[in-house]
Order: sequence, then C-alpha cells, then structure tokens
Amino acid sequence: MKLTGECFCGSVSYEIAGTVRDARSCHCSRCRKAFSSQASSYALVDPSEFSWTRGQELLTTYSSEPGYGLRFCSKCGSTLCGVFNDQVHGITLGCLNDDPQIEIARHIFVDSKANWEVIPDRVVQFAEGPPEES
Ligand SMILES: [Zn+2]
Ligand SMILES: [Zn+2]
Repeated sequence: MKLTGECFCGSVSYEIAGTVRDARSCHCSRCRKAFSSQASSYALVDPSEFSWTRGQELLTTYSSEPGYGLRFCSKCGSTLCGVFNDQVHGITLGCLNDDPQIEIARHIFVDSKANWEVIPDRVVQFAEGPPEES
C-alpha cells in the first residue's frame, strides 16, 4: 500500500510505503489543544516506510516533553506527524490524502472530553487510557 498526505496549504507532503496501524483518538485537554480539535486522530507508522516528498524545510517541531514532539507546517499550521527521539512515530489522520483502510479503534480519555462534544454510543471508549497502555 502507498499512502500520501499533505498539509492544508500543500507546501509539505509525505509518502508512506506501507500501512498505518493502531488508529486512536484521545479526548484529553492536551490533545484537544495540540490538534486544535475535539480530539486527536493519530495512527502509528513504521519510520522506515515514511518519507517527506515536499517542503520538509518548512517543518517546525514543538516538543511538549523531552523526546516527544509534533511537527507542523510553518506556513499553514497543519500538524502532520508526531516524532519520538527525532524519528517519525505516527501521523495525524486528518492530513492523509488516501484512505488508510483502518478505522479509529478506540477513543481514550473520554472522561476528559469537552462538554460540547457528543460521542456516539457505538464507539469503543475508555474513561482514561486503554488497560494495555496504563
Ligand atoms: Zn502548509
Ligand atoms: Zn491526549
């Protein structure tokens, strides 16, 4: 499988020669701000399958804690990926151009969700982190 993604203004793009896995959405207050949204939407990628195809020099990284960071386009502000120890760790699902053919499997930290968000009943939800990650 080959997946491509790009930022809102199109200056930065990437390609994944493979698949993404473990799509999740976190509703905690930190992720809401990091993603400027009701929740994060994020999936893991194999760093060896990920490559920037355009505009890499426009990327800026914000690190909220040592080792971890989010990389975004300095022109339009789209957050494209998460990095761990300077390696691409996962991608924001919103910037994908293609269908990754997976669904968000779990919604985590829903106890911290914003009051204005309504999560449908059929969604797999965890009050905090899923058990295997605690
Ligand atoms: Zn951009
Ligand atoms: Zn979170």
